[in-house]
Formats: sequence, structure tokens, C-alpha cells
Amino acid sequence: MQPDDPETRLTTAREAIAHAARLAGRKAEAVTLIAISKTKDADEIEPLLAAGQRVFGENRVQEAQAKWPALREAWPDAVLHLVGQLQSNKAEEAVALFDAIHSVDRPSLIAALARAMERQNRRPDCFLQVNIGDEEQKGGCAIDALPDLLAEARAAGVPVAGLMAVPPAEVEPAPYFALLAKLARDNGVAGLSIGMSGDYETAVTLGATHVRIGTALFGARR
Ligand SMILES: *Cc1c(COP(=O)(O)O)cnc(C)c1O
Repeated sequence: MQPDDPETRLTTAREAIAHAARLAGRKAEAVTLIAISKTKDADEIEPLLAAGQRVFGENRVQEAQAKWPALREAWPDAVLHLVGQLQSNKAEEAVALFDAIHSVDRPSLIAALARAMERQNRRPDCFLQVNIGDEEQKGGCAIDALPDLLAEARAAGVPVAGLMAVPPAEVEPAPYFALLAKLARDNGVAGLSIGMSGDYETAVTLGATHVRIGTALFGARR
């Protein structure tokens, strides 16, 4: 086995998650590892499926539609999360394809998702994305807008599994993770989707229930 093959990377990430969970007095099983397979072809994804990984994340509806129906025929228990921004006019397709949606950040999208869920009678877990660093270009609702958004989601029957955030690049992420964890506690939300390749161990010590790991599993994206 090559030291750097996908299976070894997966084992390394799982061990690091377990270690960070132990440090924080948490159980490793409380953390779901989402393998972010955006830009990766089926032949790069299959080794991870063969190694036992079942939860994957994509950031574009169209790309996922092209790759995953065939992969799911071979691995029917694969679970697919959407972690990228979602346009309301893609809500129908997203509800049909994904088991969880991490980028719910505005009332119009909640309305579109609610309609799609009603029509399809299928309710993927939703994460409300918060623009935790108050950044101009980032997706996510403003921190102040979160309570209203949460109330809208609950009223519309959109199941809220947790909060999600991507902290500002190139600064220490821990304060942002801690802030999102506090927002989740204050608002009675259980899940916390935080942590990527560079910072997932920190995220786990601060309460992540879902970590989204791409590069550390697949190598750099083209
Ligand atoms: C690409 C992406 C990730 C994974 O990033 P890595 O640094 O490659 O682990 C996580 N979350 C979101 C929202 C992404 O778009």
C-alpha cells in the first residue's frame, strides 16, 4: 500500500477525528466525516467507497447529478450532502438528489425547498449557513438574521439539522467555530457543520458534528 493512497488518508483523518474527540471528552461517533468529492471523478471516489466511506459532499448540483446516480447504483447506501451555494431554481433538483443541504441561508430558498419537499415528499436534513465572519462575498445569513431564518424554516416544515459556516480564510478559525457553536446552543440546534482539511481537528474539539474534508482525502483539486 502506498503511504499516500486514499485509503490511508481516510484512516489518518478518522484517527485524527477520534483523537480530537477524545481530547474534548466527546465520542468519535458523534462526528460525521463528509468526504468532499467536488471536481473528483468517479474513479477517484470509488477507492474511498471501497474503503468503507459512505458520506460524501458536492458543491454543485449539476456536477453531482452527472456523477452520483451511477455511483449510487453500485453503493446504494452512499449518503450525499450538498455543501455549495444553492440557487432557488435548483431547489427541486437538490431535494431529489441530496440527503442533506448545508447552504440554506435565505427566506426565498427556504420557501423553494419547502415547496420541493412538499411535492416530492422527501425531506433532506438542512443546515442553516451563517456568514460567521461577516464577509462581503460569502454565502450565509447574517448572525443577526439567524433567529428569524430558523423560525421561518421551522414554520415551513424544513428540517433544521444544524448550523454550518466557513470561517474567513487565513485567520485562526477557532473563535469562529466557538461562536457558531454558541449560536447553535442559544438557538436549540443540535448539528454543527464546521471544519475542513486544514482545521477539522480544531473544529471537532469545539463541537463539530459534521466535518467537510476534501483535499486531505483526495489531494489537491485541479
Ligand atoms: C471545498 C469545500 C470543503 C472542503 O475543503 P478542503 O479544504 O479541500 O477540505 C469544505 N466545505 C465547503 C463548503 C467546500 O466548498
